[in-house]
Amino acid sequence: MSDAPLIDIKNVTHTFQTKSGPLQVLDDLNISVREGGFCAVVGPSGCGKSTLTRLVAGLLKPDEGEVWLHGERVKSPRSTVGMAFQNPVLLEWRTILQNVMLPMEIVPTKTTKKQQEERARYLLALVGLEGFEDKRPSELSGGMRQRASLCRSLVHQPDVLILDEPFGALDAFTREDLWQTMHKVKEKEPFTGLLITHDLRESIFLADQVVVLSGRPARAQYVLDVPMDGPRDLEHLYTHEAAE
Ligand code: ADP
Ligand code: MG
Repeated sequence: MSDAPLIDIKNVTHTFQTKSGPLQVLDDLNISVREGGFCAVVGPSGCGKSTLTRLVAGLLKPDEGEVWLHGERVKSPRSTVGMAFQNPVLLEWRTILQNVMLPMEIVPTKTTKKQQEERARYLLALVGLEGFEDKRPSELSGGMRQRASLCRSLVHQPDVLILDEPFGALDAFTREDLWQTMHKVKEKEPFTGLLITHDLRESIFLADQVVVLSGRPARAQYVLDVPMDGPRDLEHLYTHEAAE
């Protein structure tokens, strides 16, 4: 493991050209995430969080600054980046298993169909969807669909997993169940994560680094390191900070 950050966002500025003129959303943003790290980005709606994920995924090009992954400058999308979103798009005419296997059809792998199916089944079991492989997306609850979408984003063993408010539309109980699942997934399927959320509790429960974006255009205002020991809740974090 090298010391160089796996995700390195360097002085990134982004402006959209809109009908009513240029709209600058990100201003000189710097975020580094070490290999195996899990960074949460918190900020108000419309501040540019999804724009940031698209820049990291190579779906957009920053007009200033650079994004580096694994020591390589990002210029185009790559299959080593997995993404999951608030409203997962699962294809209704396919089963859950077939939906999870979809990325392996789009970006071919050297594995056999049987190995691909085994991988998809393993991931579904990991997130608690064993027995639902042959169901259609509409037969699943919102939380279950989000679990299936998580499996689909993990199927290629991504180095980087980008989660753009994946739990935002779920009720509080389902959301907390998914947080537990995320911890289990991270342990079994290591990745370097970027989690977009507006839930501070969620960021502290899941991430080891929290970056808060604010201002217009948005800049990283402060970075909080979440201690890895002890319970991951707000109260513990405050007492930990106070003790230092
Ligand atoms: P967030 O995810 O933090 O809610 P977004 O990154 O989606 O915010 O959007 C940031 C701002 O950029 C918003 O004002 C949005 O309307 C604008 N925006 C996003 N994508 C585009 C686009 N393709 N063209 C023009 N404006 C955009
Ligand atoms: Mg967004």
